[in-house]
Amino acid sequence: MGNSKSGTTPLILSIFGKFLYSFYRNRPISEHNLYPAMDPYRSKSWKEFCNEVIRLDGGVCCRCRRGLSDGVILQVHHKAYLLNHKPWEYPYELCETLCRGCHAAEHGKIMPNFGWSLIGYDDLGDLDGTCQLCGTAIRHVFMIQHNKWPTMEVGEVCCDNLTCSDEAGTHMESLRRFNDRQRRFISSSRWTILEEGIESIKQKNYEISIVNVRQKFMIRINEIDGKQRFTSSLEAKKTVFFLLESGKIDEFMKKKRGLLA
Ligand SMILES: [Zn+2]
Ligand SMILES: [Zn+2]
Repeated sequence: MGNSKSGTTPLILSIFGKFLYSFYRNRPISEHNLYPAMDPYRSKSWKEFCNEVIRLDGGVCCRCRRGLSDGVILQVHHKAYLLNHKPWEYPYELCETLCRGCHAAEHGKIMPNFGWSLIGYDDLGDLDGTCQLCGTAIRHVFMIQHNKWPTMEVGEVCCDNLTCSDEAGTHMESLRRFNDRQRRFISSSRWTILEEGIESIKQKNYEISIVNVRQKFMIRINEIDGKQRFTSSLEAKKTVFFLLESGKIDEFMKKKRGLLA
């Protein structure tokens, strides 16, 4: 056992620790009751070992940097578990000093409030979701993950708080701008009734029409009829806006022209 912390955790041990962690994560168990029979944490050796780890870590929590003078209780955490080792028989580099709060978070007893990353987004179309952090009804669901906690679905504000970023806010802002432009496009006075059942608009050198065909609505671009049928003219106009915004209208027309040529 070395007297100083080398800083590098042997890979195999850290993998083993993660395996054990994932094995136990769904049960209220910590390293403290992996040794139920011995109750080793009360022993003098353990206290001496802890004091040395804390001294090597500069007397502060490795996460929040608070120490005894800040009124926190410092504990020693095992970054990986070794079979047949008493808690004080670990190399120092496998141990770290944590305050009680950070230690609990490390073990997943308290949900970690940092270190989350955004992995997905979903628009439910209505307030059908619930933020798993604050309980608010949400329509826009952000999926976030953490390596010490199950994946959660949260709202915009809680997402940005937990990821310490503005990703969700930025996403929502661009979505709001998109919706504003879409609303302006749909209600634009440039839509004109060409003849009964046909509304038309000129945009980007395209003559775009919404054609009412037997109570369904069809998109027509420069005399080419689309295959899709919409239940309302509003839905058709939303799709037209999407085609224009995304540039897909150019792709679509290029393909159609190719077929016609
Ligand atoms: Zn701490
Ligand atoms: Zn621990």
